Amino acid sequence: MHKVLIVGGGAGGLELATRLGDQLGKRGAAQITLIDRSRTHLWKPLLHEVAAGSMDIHAHQLDYLAQARWHHFTFTLGALDGLDRSQRMVSVSEVRDDNDDVVLPTRQFKYDTLVIAIGSQSNDFGTPGVADHAFTIDNSWDAHLFHRRLVNACFKANFADDGRVIRIVIVGAGATGVELAAELHNTTRVLAAYGLDHFDPEKQIHLSIVEAGPRILAGLPDYLAEATQDILKGLMVDVMCNEQVTAVSADALATASGKAIPADFVVWAAGVRAPEVLHDLDGLESNRLNQLVVRSSLQTTNDENIFALGDCAACPWKDGVNVPPRAQSAHQQASHMVRTIKLRLNGNGAKLPEFHYRDFGSLVSLGKYSSVGTLMGFVSRGSVRVEGLLAKLFYISLYKMHLMALHGFWRMALDTLARMIKRQTEPRVKLH
Ligand SMILES: Cc1cc2nc3c(=O)[nH]c(=O)nc-3n(C[C@H](O)[C@H](O)[C@H](O)COP(=O)(O)OP(=O)(O)OC[C@H]3O[C@@H](n4cnc5c(N)ncnc54)[C@H](O)[C@@H]3O)c2cc1C
Repeated sequence: MHKVLIVGGGAGGLELATRLGDQLGKRGAAQITLIDRSRTHLWKPLLHEVAAGSMDIHAHQLDYLAQARWHHFTFTLGALDGLDRSQRMVSVSEVRDDNDDVVLPTRQFKYDTLVIAIGSQSNDFGTPGVADHAFTIDNSWDAHLFHRRLVNACFKANFADDGRVIRIVIVGAGATGVELAAELHNTTRVLAAYGLDHFDPEKQIHLSIVEAGPRILAGLPDYLAEATQDILKGLMVDVMCNEQVTAVSADALATASGKAIPADFVVWAAGVRAPEVLHDLDGLESNRLNQLVVRSSLQTTNDENIFALGDCAACPWKDGVNVPPRAQSAHQQASHMVRTIKLRLNGNGAKLPEFHYRDFGSLVSLGKYSSVGTLMGFVSRGSVRVEGLLAKLFYISLYKMHLMALHGFWRMALDTLARMIKRQTEPRVKLH
């Protein structure tokens, strides 16, 4: 049986494994295997909400083993750590438990078609001190850890009752940075309402964003940046543009202009790169961000049996620009790969279709305060500006589309209803 191996069960990889399992695995037309270094899946665009405490990971994460059983694929735990193209074999690292005991040894997996979808992680551009002193929100554990530390700092300040200020500095004013700032503004206020009587977030939380570029939300239209900047100003978030961070220490950031910005918490959200393992993976072509260079068919340039999609792929789009690292790109590429793999199985692998990215626009959610965005190709061929509730609905629908790809319409709808009911009986923020 044709072996399809998918490495990385994120926004793209898990949708692909689920659909291939349903369409091919179920009737025994192919053997579908998904490998991920984590046991559970959480849609990455939710991570800033986990970090701020407005979302509980336990309520939203999906067990890979359960999904595999329901959708006729096999799940294997472990991180990709090598490739032998001549043997068509992937090697996966050993898995250890909290006591450092080996749970699973190093293993090898054969493939006929390999799809690499291991996403991206924060890019610290070699800035000294980031690894030791800054938080990243690359995965649910990182996000959870930041939230726990922040809650502890608020508890401490409440107990000390000395008016101390907690300074949170977010590096990078892309969508992740600004969304996190707005979300934190709200959740720290809600948190204080749960019995922190000696803690006043208006005076004791100071939020700032430091950005190397001339304005926030680089790459998005000017009016989006201006609308977002106004909202942040209203929330008293200090936005510092044209400030390149050159070092991070335990209690401050240094910038190229010579400033020292005091910080109790630094969150690094200043760009992404693909995982190091992709740099020279048995001769596959990669770029300076470690992304695998692929053709329009999503095939890697040196091996027609290996494909890459999502954030870890450098896929040509238009005017010499690559497809952007977004959930909607990973989603579209996963759908494309379903068609491609079926063609390969039917013996039509020689003339694979090209992937054409459709940009549906960009949305920025500023938590409960507002949402702004631009939609493309819905009402007209051009872009339409959306704000407020309508923008929020489109933003939420992105996640609902992901859930629909994983579970189908009815389960997504039931799940949404169940969550709405459950939210009535829970605190508005995660308190631990
Ligand atoms: C806070 C935040 C907010 C965002 N908001 C938006 C948004 O609003 N809209 C939008 O379009 N995009 C958003 N993005 C970007 C979006 O999340 C990514 O573009 C998208 O998740 C990429 O999908 P992917 O499948 O390539 O990778 P991912 O979804 O990152 O999945 C990668 C998977 O690979 C696994 N993995 C990693 N390394 C290995 C390894 N060595 N071996 C095995 N498995 C491995 C990981 O555990 C993970 O499950 C946001 C990102 C962040 C961090």
